[in-house]
Amino acid sequence: MSRQDKDQLLLFFYIVFSFMFYGIGMNYGNAHPYCQVSHMTRESASPESAASAPEATTETTEAARPIIVVLDAGHGGNDTGAFYKSEEGKIHEKTVNFKLTKYLKIALEEYDNITVVLTRDSDKYLSLQERVDIALENNADLFVSLHNNTLVGAGGYATGSSIAVAIGNYNEKIAQEGQRLGANIAYELGKLGLKQNGLLMRSSRSYTYPNGRASDYYATIRGGMLHDFPSVIIEHAFIDNKDDFYDYLCSEKQLKEMAAADARGIARYLQVPRKDDSKVLEPLDDYKIKVCHIKKNGSAKKTYRIYYTDRFTDYEE
Ligand SMILES: [Zn+2]
Repeated sequence: MSRQDKDQLLLFFYIVFSFMFYGIGMNYGNAHPYCQVSHMTRESASPESAASAPEATTETTEAARPIIVVLDAGHGGNDTGAFYKSEEGKIHEKTVNFKLTKYLKIALEEYDNITVVLTRDSDKYLSLQERVDIALENNADLFVSLHNNTLVGAGGYATGSSIAVAIGNYNEKIAQEGQRLGANIAYELGKLGLKQNGLLMRSSRSYTYPNGRASDYYATIRGGMLHDFPSVIIEHAFIDNKDDFYDYLCSEKQLKEMAAADARGIARYLQVPRKDDSKVLEPLDDYKIKVCHIKKNGSAKKTYRIYYTDRFTDYEE
């Protein structure tokens, strides 16, 4: 073999191995099972980032990152929230919310690749901004606040559950992720038999977003839109409604069932499998939900929406 032949042979092997390693890098870059739904992982699966080998290695590390779900037990400390007045005394919303949150943490940890962070793990007061700050410090992918309702609220209902979500006046893509998350949770709570009031959107009278449009009324939802994470508030049931209270909120068993429904809603939205049997819940398809938008002037606009696996349509009835 001449010197020139040897050089050509070496060049040939160099090219073959280069292509092999390049190919491996590309495969790893696309290998995240949850890329459809989590906004963090969805960005990491973009075609541009998978197009070169060195970046693909970085993507591998990012893809393995767990989905961080921040659970926020509403109220706490001196802020006791609403209550049910039983013969034995008042049952405070802060206590019911806290129990639901602890059960939801346990239920969510039965699913793969989810890390749960709690805004409070004891009966203490936290401002709404402190709750948002905890989400930011922990790189939240989702923020889920757990509450129970009282009196005839803004939507005009006095029983059942509703999920407050962003309007979509700012950071529309993230707002829509929150709306879809809300619909998934509503679907599961509805299956328990709770009256389903659907999605609640509410405009602030005083705040505006940097783009000049009306802000979301709820501070934790506004925080999510300003800092890029879907944020919802689950109003599970009406704590001051006797039927809601005795049917859904008064025993540990009932609270565990509600929390398990929340967990299924979150897991269905994320399309994450259960750890024990690796099963993923079917994505929502053809699910009709009520939508109530409380405008700046206090008037309520009620519409409907149908969720399909990859889109939704709004309409009035
Ligand atoms: Zn509350």
